[in-house]
Amino acid sequence: MIENEAKGVLLVLSGPSGVGKGTVCKALLARNPEVKLSVSATTRAPRPGEVEGVSYFFKTREEFERMIAAGEFLEYMDVFGTNYYGTPRAYVEQQLFAGDDVLLEIDVKGAMNVKRIFPEAVLVFIAPPSMETLKKRLVGRGTETEEAVKRRTQEAFAEMKLMPKYDYVVVNDVLEEAVRSVETILEAERLRAWRRTDLTNLCKEAGTDL
Ligand code: 5GP
Repeated sequence: MIENEAKGVLLVLSGPSGVGKGTVCKALLARNPEVKLSVSATTRAPRPGEVEGVSYFFKTREEFERMIAAGEFLEYMDVFGTNYYGTPRAYVEQQLFAGDDVLLEIDVKGAMNVKRIFPEAVLVFIAPPSMETLKKRLVGRGTETEEAVKRRTQEAFAEMKLMPKYDYVVVNDVLEEAVRSVETILEAERLRAWRRTDLTNLCKEAGTDL
């Protein structure tokens, strides 16, 4: 069971479409090279500029369903009813066992599933400064059809409703401040007593266990 053995922090970042969670993740990873990004698998087509194995592992439905059957996902979702998205289990477990922190950028339902399977996961909700800003960001993205924007807006409003279920909420207004907040969360989580296996000897000397 990964619950008892994993030492790294499993940091799950999610939030509605258009909130800029991808930008927050990128900046976090650039400043904290010790944090490992879990690359998800998806059946959706690559967008311009997306790279296989970096943005996603792009799969056919058949390949994805074979991976589901083989139990290769920590969690997976039919996110918009058209495409599968999933977190490959092996990479996450390996990094956590090795004591490295792992970042998942997944949708809100996926985040809830991860928390059920792995209660020590730290769930961070990236929120917009206002619903108005969120709507503007969804329209301004410019990579999708009007219908797709409308669907994403409806999804985004539904996703906002799960905010109270998260461990932390970070508002993405000024990027630098949002990233700093996520770093603060990570620093605090790393200091949790049960994770301080580096202090086993100190505890022994004091006549206790962690
Ligand atoms: P996009 O198609 O814009 O890259 O992503 C659509 C949604 O799928 C986003 O909310 C993204 O966070 C989510 N997503 C990406 N990877 C995963 C995953 O592995 N699992 C789940 N549950 N959602 C994911």
